[in-house]
Amino acid sequence: MEKIFSDIKKTVDGAVKKSGELVEITKVKLSIVDIKNKIDARFKELGRIVYNASGPEYSEAEGADAIIEELNALYEELKKTEERLAELKSEVVCKSCGSLSSDDSLYCRKCGAKLD
Ligand SMILES: [Zn+2]
Repeated sequence: MEKIFSDIKKTVDGAVKKSGELVEITKVKLSIVDIKNKIDARFKELGRIVYNASGPEYSEAEGADAIIEELNALYEELKKTEERLAELKSEVVCKSCGSLSSDDSLYCRKCGAKLD
């Protein structure tokens, strides 16, 4: 009888852990979308600045450097967040092409590079 209870408990614990992971995966996916939207917004702003800089009243693209710095930071954040997602899904990020393969594969399923 006790064994049955402990088996049930194990199953429940497993399910709770699994759903916790799913919530986490959803959160991480949402933050990836959020970061990508921020990147798009910065590019739009950058385009506007560069366009304005070609007009008569500006001699240089003012503020462009700051936006490029923000973009670099966002890309760094995006990379970390995608790695976190891969970790949660038990996948590894290929260092050559950036695609995901299951963590038991030896080679990237997209480009064939060796995974470590
Ligand atoms: Zn690859």
